[in-house]
Amino acid sequence: MIKPMTQHVIIIGGGISGLATAYYLQQQAQAKNLPLTYTLIEKQPTFGGKIVTDTRDGFVIEGGPDSFISQKPWARQLCQELGLQDRLIGTNDEQRKTFILHNGRLQALPDGVMLIIPTRFMPFALSPLISPWGKLRMGLDLFIPAKTDEADESLADFIRRRLGNEALEKIAEPLMAGIYVADPTTLSLQSTFPRFRQIEKKYGSLIKGMLAQQQASSKSSQPKLPLFMTLRGGLTELVNTIVAKLTGELRPHQTVNRLNYQATEAQPYEVLLADGQTRRADRVILATPAYITAGLLEPYNPALAEQLRAIRYLSTATVSLAFNKADIAHPLNGFGFVIPKKENTRLMACTWVSTKFNHRAPNDQILLRVFIGGYKNEALVDWPTDKLLALVREELAKIMGITARPTRQQLYRWPIGNAQYDVGHLARVATIEAETQNTLPHLYLTGSAFLGVGLPDCIYQGQQTAIKVIADMEGVKNI
Ligand SMILES: Cc1cc2nc3c(=O)[nH]c(=O)nc-3n(C[C@H](O)[C@H](O)[C@H](O)COP(=O)(O)OP(=O)(O)OC[C@H]3O[C@@H](n4cnc5c(N)ncnc54)[C@H](O)[C@@H]3O)c2cc1C
Repeated sequence: MIKPMTQHVIIIGGGISGLATAYYLQQQAQAKNLPLTYTLIEKQPTFGGKIVTDTRDGFVIEGGPDSFISQKPWARQLCQELGLQDRLIGTNDEQRKTFILHNGRLQALPDGVMLIIPTRFMPFALSPLISPWGKLRMGLDLFIPAKTDEADESLADFIRRRLGNEALEKIAEPLMAGIYVADPTTLSLQSTFPRFRQIEKKYGSLIKGMLAQQQASSKSSQPKLPLFMTLRGGLTELVNTIVAKLTGELRPHQTVNRLNYQATEAQPYEVLLADGQTRRADRVILATPAYITAGLLEPYNPALAEQLRAIRYLSTATVSLAFNKADIAHPLNGFGFVIPKKENTRLMACTWVSTKFNHRAPNDQILLRVFIGGYKNEALVDWPTDKLLALVREELAKIMGITARPTRQQLYRWPIGNAQYDVGHLARVATIEAETQNTLPHLYLTGSAFLGVGLPDCIYQGQQTAIKVIADMEGVKNI
């Protein structure tokens, strides 16, 4: 059968992963002069998926992600490529301090603790957060030999092994829950913090490794970037700018209900939309959550669908609260706080948004953002709005002494919204990739379910997926 000259690609899912895939696909097809058209289909009326920004009355309120880590370059690079260089803003790192709730009170994470690893002796030694025995146990990291086998392990097992239980309970668990909303006893080290394991292998100790890396970066001539970056008007600026650059067919507010595959057809894939329309394609890219992808692939490969469904998701919610600055006595002298499980509080974390970034609230207001749900309190996400907001205010009164009425409250729920990378995740992803390639040619999976949940990772995966599609197309063209 003769292949049609122009190949049509359907991308399902218009979150950052689908958008980045479409953008890079278009860019590379143009650069290589390949005949390619595409349709990007998104269920919601607007693109962006988890990226939702509300900019009203001088506030910039993020419902999902609020920034991206600058150490992973792909989000920053994409912003620069899109001409958003002048819109990038960084965290106010001179105010960078994280607090941890300890016996009901906020204690600062000692200066020099990088991620979870102490790199400066005095602030760490003087900190009341960790007991003398806990500090000694963390120091044993300098002497404990590195693990020799390559098997994946949980983040909790790794931290306990190197730094002890107190470091896990008081520092690692709440910080990691803040990032992955995950239980560290099930979270895969290889999929989330492979760098820790690399440091252990190279230096035999996390503390030695962190110190060595710190020295190397202080000698580097590269300009120091702020830890996290975002866009002045919020992350939907990134979404809107990508969408404006896309020249393919964009179909927001359309749900893909079914995917048909017929190997004998010239265009083997057919997508059935909720409004009854169909669309044919030579290639399909799924940038949907793993459980949606599983449903679409079930008829063709139930074993693959089962592997996809085994990627668990947790529900979370965020509540943004604004207050009159004059009503708040708390100095908000940091980026916010995280809460260890053993503190038995119903919140997960709180970001002091107007300290972390400029341009988030009018001058006479302050903005906070509270995280709820995750592995500790998932059921709270389903609470009625009034009850949930009352709970948040009750907890903020206890922890930060805030009793003033907020001038604004905004709740965003993310049911089954956060992919969990359990121990063995990388092996599962490899099986999923192999199964997909073997049974569904010219179909590609991408997105936060697989090789990184952060925005830079999603963008990188989108870029890699586009490269793969183009390489496959060139292969077909050259046959
Ligand atoms: C509260 C919260 C805070 C976060 N904070 C940060 C942060 O600060 N920094 C960071 O880097 N990351 C953060 N993350 C993680 C990051 O936001 C996500 O991992 C990322 O946005 C996921 O992008 P995605 O495109 O892979 O998936 P999604 O954004 O979930 O996009 C998938 C898209 O597929 C669409 N879809 C589903 N089914 C269908 C269908 N049948 N037909 C058509 N379309 C369909 C959905 O509507 C959705 O738009 C946060 C996540 C949450 C929930």
